[in-house]
Amino acid sequence: MKKEEYKEQKMSCCGNGAEPGNILKNTNLCPVCKRQGTLVKNITVKHMVHDELTDQVGEKDYNLCMSEDCDVTYYNTESNVNFNKQQIKVPIWVKKDADPKYACYCSKVTEDQVIEAVVKHGAKTVKEVNAITGAMKNSNCKENNPLGVCCHKIIQEAIDKGLAMK
Ligand SMILES: [Zn+2]
Repeated sequence: MKKEEYKEQKMSCCGNGAEPGNILKNTNLCPVCKRQGTLVKNITVKHMVHDELTDQVGEKDYNLCMSEDCDVTYYNTESNVNFNKQQIKVPIWVKKDADPKYACYCSKVTEDQVIEAVVKHGAKTVKEVNAITGAMKNSNCKENNPLGVCCHKIIQEAIDKGLAMK
């Protein structure tokens, strides 16, 4: 498959304002926990699974199971292909035992680092957190972030956690 086939309206995800375009409502429920997943583009899934599994991904888009207790990560209910946590290269931050728990996958900044920037260094905004932690510096969210979208939103959620601790 050619990469050019992927026409994203907002390729430069980081900094341009997070566009939750991938988060579409659909009726594809996780085959294990039966909850609604989040749509993820094929190219992102291909980058997320271990190299020997890339062929199994095929050409379809997937859903990511967002339940913290569920072992399933990417699944496609049409082709019946599922991947579990162990088959993915990075810990999925929504899963409860994710270690480390990344807030920014591109620059490998963890949720704890973001919280520390808020609690210890007084950062309040994503911009301030990025300046302290180096988050969102090397942005290639389509390949590095498990949802294929900007880390901005995850960082914001970590900031909110940090602010709540103050
Ligand atoms: Zn699930």
